[in-house]
Order: sequence, then structure tokens, then C-alpha cells
Amino acid sequence: MPVRPLKPCAWPGCSTLVRGDYYCARHAPLAAEKRQTAKRTVHKRYNERRDESDAFYKTERWKKLSAYYRKKHPVCEHCDNAASDITDHIKPYKTHPELGLDWDNLRALCRECHNSIGERIGLVGESAARAAG
Ligand SMILES: [Zn+2]
Ligand SMILES: [Zn+2]
Repeated sequence: MPVRPLKPCAWPGCSTLVRGDYYCARHAPLAAEKRQTAKRTVHKRYNERRDESDAFYKTERWKKLSAYYRKKHPVCEHCDNAASDITDHIKPYKTHPELGLDWDNLRALCRECHNSIGERIGLVGESAARAAG
């Protein structure tokens, strides 16, 4: 079996030769830690955004508006079949926070419809946002 060639450590500025590995023994743990940190940063950013919309859904204004909307639309506007459980944003709050309290951007959904189309709409909204900007 052929011997793998020696290559310099992939760590910037390090010229230690390693065989069959990206990093030398000194830099391998550092590189692993760096990867972890990058992952955590992405995760944190995501959570911040979620916290923002969580905060919105906890406001008195939203609770009142969504309760009132469902009073006006007691039946799911998607399947016309089940009782509405959730006031949903047609344009997701995540991408259109300015429409958060816009009556025309609301629709009443049953839990099932919300779960099945919520995901899909979220994706559409995101790709639309990407295309726009
Ligand atoms: Zn190294
Ligand atoms: Zn429904």
C-alpha cells in the first residue's frame, strides 16, 4: 500500500509536515475548535432572529389582533373545513415584519393546514426575498 505524501499543515503560517492529515498535532485541535465556533455563531444568529419574532408573537397587540381575526374567521381559510386555530401571516413575519399587524396579510388556519403549508410558504418567502435582494 502506497505511503501517503507528506504535506504542510493547512494552518496558515504553519509549515510542519503531516502525513495523510490536514493539520499537524498542534493545530488539529485548534482547527476543530474554530469549526465549532463558526457553527455556534450561525446558530446564535438564527436564534436572535427567532427571538425577534417570538417577542412579536407575545405582544398584547398581536394577541388581540389574532384573537379578533379568528373571531371573524372561525373556520380555516385554507381547507374551509376545520376550526381555525392559528392566525397566520400570508407574507411571513420573518421576512415582512412591517406587515405583522396588517389585516390583509392575515389568514386563519387550522393546525393541520398551518403545519403542512407553513413550511412551504416559509421556503417560498425566503427564496423570494433572496431574488429581491
Ligand atoms: Zn500546524
Ligand atoms: Zn385547514
